[in-house]
Amino acid sequence: MQLIDGKATAARIKEEIAQEVEQIVEAGGKRPHLAAVLVGHDGGSETYVKNKVLACEACGFTSSLIRYEDNVTEEELLACVDRLNRDADVDGFIVQLPLPKHIDEQKIIEAIDYHKDVDGFHPVNVGRMAIGLPCFISATPLGIMTLLRRYGIETSGKKCVVLGRSNIVGKPMAQLMMQKEYGDATVTVCHSRSKNLKEECREADIIIAAIGRPDFVTADMVKEGAVIVDVGTTRVPDASRKSGYRLNGDVKFDEVAPHCSFITPVPGGVGPMTICSLMKNTLAAGKKEYYK
Ligand code: NAP
Repeated sequence: MQLIDGKATAARIKEEIAQEVEQIVEAGGKRPHLAAVLVGHDGGSETYVKNKVLACEACGFTSSLIRYEDNVTEEELLACVDRLNRDADVDGFIVQLPLPKHIDEQKIIEAIDYHKDVDGFHPVNVGRMAIGLPCFISATPLGIMTLLRRYGIETSGKKCVVLGRSNIVGKPMAQLMMQKEYGDATVTVCHSRSKNLKEECREADIIIAAIGRPDFVTADMVKEGAVIVDVGTTRVPDASRKSGYRLNGDVKFDEVAPHCSFITPVPGGVGPMTICSLMKNTLAAGKKEYYK
């Protein structure tokens, strides 16, 4: 069994990005600029945004953080998105999700100029990804594809089961794994209504678990030699930690790992690659790689 080290891979990629940024700047070009909009004080969102800002520093990007309290109105947030759309210095920006209930998330996503949508959530980017056109791809699935490639894991013609069908992970993951230019695999998507989920998993060469149910994937669901990618990050209480919690994946790691050829740990697997892919998207935005 080989452990897939997302932390080390992400660190290497950030170094590569930083080198490229310095070359761009030395040649007289502009430092890529990522802006992040954070609403409220949710602990998880605060941590994600902090890590994104730190990653920008590591990559040599300019970053800016725009904060609002929980009671921000939808109109105020839409006005902020409009300002960022028109700000020529900002190459890409994200609005950290989830947003408070009184704000229509989809409306905010669709208000973002797709040329700057480095999260890849805008319908134009989602649609372009689905038909294989250049675009910003959702960071978590893109990070997983990068990990599989960097570890030389063969996906073409393999049977892949994706657990979960969310717009940000499950669906784009299944699309990428299916596409000729990316995974080129035979893909099955399972969700909360799937009747034969265990049987599907047992036949899979690759399982990508993104459901947010700690320890859901057990050894009896995994074929010998399978590749396991664990996207799940659920906070579970843990009195032994200073924070009072730990991050738990969707895979029962200790019992599943001995049966795998490759497996991602939680934390240190998919998580660092997600942020790293956001940096890749920001670099592409700065270079106007996908859209002139
Ligand atoms: P989500 O929007 O809650 O979607 C969960 C999906 O899992 C849904 O499609 C749901 O099915 C399915 N599901 C839930 N319980 C199930 C069960 N018992 N059996 C089969 N399917 C089940 O979650 P998400 O945003 O995709 O995130 C999934 C997990 O990944 C979470 O733990 C999240 O924290 C983590 N995550 C990690 C990263 C990272 O960078 N590491 C990034 C994003 C997300 P229905 O559609 O039928 O409801």
